[in-house]
Amino acid sequence: MIDIAGDFHTHTVHSHGTGSVEDNVKAAIDRGLAAVAISDHGMAHPFYGIRSMEKYLRDIEDVRERYADQIRVYSGYEGNLQSLKGRVDLPEGWTDAIDFPFFGYHRMVRYPNPADFFHFMMPKSHSDSAVEKNTRAVSAALEKSPAMMVSHPGYGLPVDKTALARAAAASGKALEINAKHPEFTVEELRDAARAGAKFIIGSDAHSPGRVGDFRAAIEKAEQAGISPSQILNSRENIDSFLASLEERRRRRGPRQFRDVLGRAYGGS
Ligand SMILES: [Zn+2]
Ligand SMILES: [Zn+2]
Repeated sequence: MIDIAGDFHTHTVHSHGTGSVEDNVKAAIDRGLAAVAISDHGMAHPFYGIRSMEKYLRDIEDVRERYADQIRVYSGYEGNLQSLKGRVDLPEGWTDAIDFPFFGYHRMVRYPNPADFFHFMMPKSHSDSAVEKNTRAVSAALEKSPAMMVSHPGYGLPVDKTALARAAAASGKALEINAKHPEFTVEELRDAARAGAKFIIGSDAHSPGRVGDFRAAIEKAEQAGISPSQILNSRENIDSFLASLEERRRRRGPRQFRDVLGRAYGGS
């Protein structure tokens, strides 16, 4: 039986979710979760992207402090894959202030050049060469960017999930099993697990009522025989996963943290 103790993929009004940061945090507490991340859409998305990193991070830090005795709150960021070379729109100068950066493929984001625009605007092709290019792009982004996970692999962009699982295992990054976009088949999940990938189960909640709703993802993971030990946010792994996030906070150090968030708080 898979028990998930933290939701690291939730959206708020800072992108196109319906609830506030506080609404999502309260919902996570009601669900009995030990941790929740707010992970709004990357800034390269002209319609859904976070409009102000300052306001976004300040909001999360405020709620994090107010609810510190009830739940761990983290700042996340769901970046966008932008190029065939694996560029991701993690904002320069801000990445250090984000506890849990990750990325996924979303259509209609800003692309650095026409070749990327034409490839990613209409990625309907399931031809071997298109799938290979897509897989290479996502693998490169996992390897090169500070992202810690790829969200909903295969959603909107056909990829070779077993090859991606190998790339994720090699770069020490996680694959998401997304409850809202169940792109993984049971067979694919089984293969990805055999390839050595680690997983994170996320709700991808766009409203507070869906925070911590992992049913579709858990059902599939259980059918695929995935062990809770392979899932970073399972009840058995949550302490060590949270310790790694806290370590990331410590590593960026008080000075660097203040430098980055200083702007958010209007400090010098
Ligand atoms: Zn997404
Ligand atoms: Zn999302």
